[in-house]
Amino acid sequence: MLPEKHTTYYDIIDSFKGKGCPICSLVDRSVNAFFKSFLMEFVLNNNITKKLNKSKGFCERHGFSLIKHGDSLATAITYNVLMDDLLTELKKTGAVKSSFFNKEGDCPACEAFDESNERYTDAFVMYAVYPELLEKYQGSTGVCVPHLRKILTKCKDKELLKQLVEIHLSFYGKLNDELISIIRKNDYRYSKEPWGSEKDAWIRAVEKFVGRQYKD
Ligand SMILES: [Zn+2]
Ligand SMILES: [Zn+2]
Repeated sequence: MLPEKHTTYYDIIDSFKGKGCPICSLVDRSVNAFFKSFLMEFVLNNNITKKLNKSKGFCERHGFSLIKHGDSLATAITYNVLMDDLLTELKKTGAVKSSFFNKEGDCPACEAFDESNERYTDAFVMYAVYPELLEKYQGSTGVCVPHLRKILTKCKDKELLKQLVEIHLSFYGKLNDELISIIRKNDYRYSKEPWGSEKDAWIRAVEKFVGRQYKD
């Protein structure tokens, strides 16, 4: 029996239209929503404040995401609490032995990321039994290597697994051909050949393995 189509099904189909890994884009959207709600209710959300006290703030990636949201007040209040704790600890012990330097638990945005990551990869594998989904997927740029690994590990249906492997052999095979084309055109004998879509394949190849789109 085919699984019932929920909003996630349509979100997944929709994500195929974008650039870069469709699952990464869905997960990014969830993390963005996490930050939006955090910034909106930061004073009230004791749960996240407690987590931040344990994790000693956001991790590097999510700390920088927080800055990008540009909410100076909410960020100042959040980090003022952390800074107060740090100052109290330093005064008490005056040493690096302070428990303040022991991180406990994950950055709350990482938790939101992990939760969404599992949910969307599970949903992708579940809904991949719909031929129309796989057909539309083949028109996308395909998932990144970290998501490919996750999807193939989660797929318990042998037939579907075979199909997924085929699709990704084609996705990644095409990209590899573009890399070979770059290498070839750097050879003086072929350097007169015009450049096509392979021009930025070297960037897309790194993005595929990293699982994120490069933004300079
Ligand atoms: Zn991805
Ligand atoms: Zn994080």
